[in-house]
Amino acid sequence: MKTIYFDNNATTKVAEGVLQQMKPLFCELYGNPSSMHTFGGQVSHSIRKAREQVSDLLGCDPAEIIFTSCGTESDNAAIKGTLAAHPNRRKVITTRVEHPAVLSVCRDLENHGYAIVELAIDKKGQLDLAELEEKLDDDTAIVSIMYANNETGVIFPIDKIAEMVADKGVVFHTDAVQAVGKIPLNLSKSNIDLLSLSGHKLHGPKGVGALYVKKGTRLPPFMLGGHQEAGRRAGTENVPGIVGLGKACELAGQNIEEENNNVKYLRDKLENAILEICPDSRLNGDKDNRLPNTTNISFEFVEGEAILLMLDKFGICASSGSACTSGSLEPSHVLRAMGVPFTAAHGSIRFSLSRYNTEQEVDYTIEKLPPIINRLRELSPFVAK
Ligand code: PLP
Repeated sequence: MKTIYFDNNATTKVAEGVLQQMKPLFCELYGNPSSMHTFGGQVSHSIRKAREQVSDLLGCDPAEIIFTSCGTESDNAAIKGTLAAHPNRRKVITTRVEHPAVLSVCRDLENHGYAIVELAIDKKGQLDLAELEEKLDDDTAIVSIMYANNETGVIFPIDKIAEMVADKGVVFHTDAVQAVGKIPLNLSKSNIDLLSLSGHKLHGPKGVGALYVKKGTRLPPFMLGGHQEAGRRAGTENVPGIVGLGKACELAGQNIEEENNNVKYLRDKLENAILEICPDSRLNGDKDNRLPNTTNISFEFVEGEAILLMLDKFGICASSGSACTSGSLEPSHVLRAMGVPFTAAHGSIRFSLSRYNTEQEVDYTIEKLPPIINRLRELSPFVAK
């Protein structure tokens, strides 16, 4: 059975061009980039090139890029590093809908005496910027707000937010793990101080990420040891990963607009058909300000997990907005923050597409999904028979 992969916000297929660039770095060019010999020097050159490829996509200087192991590490380093650099400030502002890579850090900081503000969002998943303005003060060390939400695809007005935060002299970090490669960026013209990205979300490899640190931003070393990454993040580099990330950024930048149009066409076809055919289905999130590849749809009175299992039988991979934690089915914190009713939040499914999806795959899913929903509703104790 062919796999139909609509779970690209979880992870993506490595692009063929990325894999080809990575291959020689395992058994041919395996030198240590810190070595003095020419063999190691070639590897160091590959890292330099990758740094340029990443910075080209972001519109920044290569010296502003620190390679890390993943988006989570970048988020942790940005927030904890900024707090270490500003010891007299004890407040962090974030949102209720961040990825756990940010939210868990903030909640842990609360246990260490920091004041954490989690900004609310409205029904569409958007922020009230007046609330941010009101909460920003001299005690705020950092504001960390994601660029685009991984569950709904909702995009926050990050440039405007960064400007507001900069006006107050506060450091601004954005988790752009879902945005990089999907939204054109030009950091040289923005007030973003710190930005996190991850290789495996943009057809690069897993185990590599990057943190953009605007020139002049105070961020102490977050991994101590050797002198790698300008002394801020020590440890022998994941060279194949870094080279793969660089190539993935180059490829993403080449086709960003065309790819977005194609992916959006497929996403809209899938979404419109599902909403039309399936009664009691609803879209979660701001229809207009959204990543082009993401749709999050709730089906009243059915469990998301049950839908996923039945889709899986047809080889269709998607993801659900609820997570089975310690025996209790907790609906997604993102949907809860948006005020999505309990019965709908439990039955939410996220489809996230990529450049590799086809119209046939979308048509196949449109054919298979509605009977699954009907079948589950027949079994549901919540639906009047
Ligand atoms: N931030 C967001 C918005 C994400 O979607 C993810 C991964 O799903 C992460 C951070 C974590 O990235 P990584 O898997 O590279 O640690």
